[in-house]
Amino acid sequence: MRIDIVTLFPELCDQFLSASILGRARAKDLFEAHCHQIRDYTTNKQKQTDDYPYGGGCGMVLYAQPIADCLREVQRQCAEQGRNKPHVVFLTAAGKPYNEEAAKRLAGYDAVTLVCGHYEGIDERVIEAFGDEEISIGDYVLTGGELASLVVADSVLRLQPGVLAEEKGYQEESYWDGLLEYPQYTRPEVWEGRAVPPVLLTGDHKKIDAWRAAQSRTRTRLRRPDLYERWCDTHPVTDLPKWKRGENARLVKTGEQMDRAAALFAEGRRTVCAEICTPAYLAAITPENMRDLLEQERRSGWAFYLHYTGGEADAMVGVCHQTGEISHLFVTEAARGKGIGAKMLEFARKKLPEHPHPTLGVLSTNIRAQALYRRMGWRPDGVLHVFDPEQDPTATVYSEELRFRYDRA
Ligand code: SAM
Repeated sequence: MRIDIVTLFPELCDQFLSASILGRARAKDLFEAHCHQIRDYTTNKQKQTDDYPYGGGCGMVLYAQPIADCLREVQRQCAEQGRNKPHVVFLTAAGKPYNEEAAKRLAGYDAVTLVCGHYEGIDERVIEAFGDEEISIGDYVLTGGELASLVVADSVLRLQPGVLAEEKGYQEESYWDGLLEYPQYTRPEVWEGRAVPPVLLTGDHKKIDAWRAAQSRTRTRLRRPDLYERWCDTHPVTDLPKWKRGENARLVKTGEQMDRAAALFAEGRRTVCAEICTPAYLAAITPENMRDLLEQERRSGWAFYLHYTGGEADAMVGVCHQTGEISHLFVTEAARGKGIGAKMLEFARKKLPEHPHPTLGVLSTNIRAQALYRRMGWRPDGVLHVFDPEQDPTATVYSEELRFRYDRA
């Protein structure tokens, strides 16, 4: 692969591409890299590269001409080498967000040219004329495109055959499989009172792999729910139930979804508590109060999912990846009798592959739910809470919150 960087700071870029892993690979000709000085292609006497923006405004804008001539020269050199026309990327703060998927895609080109802006940016016309795409490396503004182009070059070049010692190296990195990487440890075994997780010292690679996979999933779920959600959609470990047409489940992300979840949660809680709680307690189960509770739970590691039928949210469930608990399983009155509760319970259980025996709580008075859980492989496993009118002024009849544990092999 050939990478060209078009910049006002070619030495800076070249130095980076000559150091460490990339430097060694470059010396072995595992890829070719060229950094071009935009100033060398200016046609004015002062070798000026920028000018004031039309329409006014602060800062300077890079001329189109020197960048265009530099890109033509890169095209000429590539043609001379018998290469394809290079794929031209402009690094801009307004470009498409960059990720590992884009790195894999760019790694497939024979030649990629990265163009770095500076000052206020680049004359738009050269981007229109030469750019195949614009890439941003994040939602922040840099003073120049050099760091951005090096981020892209590094992430693309490390995927070239032979650059990393082992192909497995990058296949186990964060994002390769859509998940964040598990935590890494090296010697000593105990550092400043902190021990390495014991499983890593067992030498049992099956156990180690399972531990790492679980760490990866948990980390991704907690730190990047967006990535986790995408991974779950495609990963066989969490294959989804057979949804009917127009039916699906979505992670609660937006404020609007949270409001809907809070409304469903309030309705569900009022229904199950109606038989055992005082009217004052039931009156306090409002969507506003339940939203506060859900927000609090979300901060402590819970994720909530809404079930939709034809665009209408009619059921919900919550899962906690830290503790392996499932909760807030509720289906609206109108949507009952269609197997949605069973589907959502199975969906939630499969969201917790790192917990082979998840648990949930159910009121002893909720016979219908208990029957469903038993049918689906859940078994009673103790008492979580006792509601005793003699001790609890909000309870009207004695009942218990039973713990159920998933127990199907
Ligand atoms: N006026 C531009 C704007 O508001 O979008 C910002 C220009 S910035 C100060 C100068 C140059 O840095 C840009 O032309 C671009 O090449 C580079 N740059 C800044 N932020 C970037 C980002 N997040 N990703 C990629 N390149 C970036």
